[in-house]
Amino acid sequence: MRLSTAPSPRGRTAPYNRFGLRKPPITVKCDCGETREVAYGDRWRCETCGRAWNTGQIPPEEYEGLLRRMRRHQLEVLALAALVAAIMVPLIVFVSARFILLVLPLMAVWLIVVLPYWRRRYHRTAREAPRWQLHPE
Ligand SMILES: [Zn+2]
Repeated sequence: MRLSTAPSPRGRTAPYNRFGLRKPPITVKCDCGETREVAYGDRWRCETCGRAWNTGQIPPEEYEGLLRRMRRHQLEVLALAALVAAIMVPLIVFVSARFILLVLPLMAVWLIVVLPYWRRRYHRTAREAPRWQLHPE
């Protein structure tokens, strides 16, 4: 039985792929091969073989450590957005309204360069998450 927070192999969009401070679910892989995304602290009884798994067996400090790393990535991207706004808004308001012409290229750079780069790092952190060994109850 292995656990991870890696994205599910079915390619379904997990909630933590969206931008937000949602807690990443834990992917529980049953001994029989069944997998399920379970919220931390929740129990799951495998429909196929009836084994019960409890993610509450994961040490809270380890799960918290993972959450902290994910949260730090989210704060980085927010800080960068705030920095760009802190530079652009005074330029537009106090220097010249023509700087507004830079907003569109900046948004393009943001969407094409910054966000994909950030997503890759975010997912790498999720993939590198520790794997825990649970015991069926
Ligand atoms: Zn099973």
